[in-house]
Amino acid sequence: MGDDPIKTFLDGRVTVYVGDITEHDVEAIVNAANSSLMGGGGVDGAIHRRGGPQILEECREIRRTRYPQGLPTGEAVITSGGRLPAHYVIHTVGPIYGRHDGREAELLANCYRNSLALAVERGLRTIAFPSISTGAYGYPRDEAARVASQAIKEFLARDASLREVRLVFFSPDDAEIFLKHQLFENA
Ligand code: ADP
Repeated sequence: MGDDPIKTFLDGRVTVYVGDITEHDVEAIVNAANSSLMGGGGVDGAIHRRGGPQILEECREIRRTRYPQGLPTGEAVITSGGRLPAHYVIHTVGPIYGRHDGREAELLANCYRNSLALAVERGLRTIAFPSISTGAYGYPRDEAARVASQAIKEFLARDASLREVRLVFFSPDDAEIFLKHQLFENA
């Protein structure tokens, strides 16, 4: 991914891109998975398509050994990146908007926190996120922007090891809404 970010925050530790996350050459990309970990549509489908069968194989093993009932919303697990440029994929399950009795924001924040914590635990320094829950799961993009940016900002304030958190939006419109509502520099 040779393109430049459209915007940076926090002295370059947060960068914003428009494009396809599966093309990003970072240590880990995050997958907006579903609790089955067996693949799906949207970014999940794109990651498995491009990454190949190795990722699904590892997901199956994680299901079998650790989460036979499925990965709970807000939690995160890690697999290799298969044939992706990224070395790892961190799979997290976003909340379905309107289905969690008002706990949606906390659960969405957990996705970001737990994914970042897993990256740090593995000694990774660059990670890219898609806009979790804002596709099929229906989370309003303005609200998601506030939640995501606040969670990342709080995490980075306490962590010294992560060098770059990349936010990759699929469309210019999505990125624009994010930039308008993010809290990196507005609060
Ligand atoms: P969720 O079920 O968590 O809502 P989706 O995959 O449906 O997940 O959508 C999450 C976001 O990812 C949406 O903004 C969607 O446009 C975006 N998206 C879909 N494909 C890609 C991709 N290849 N790279 C980056 N973002 C993507």
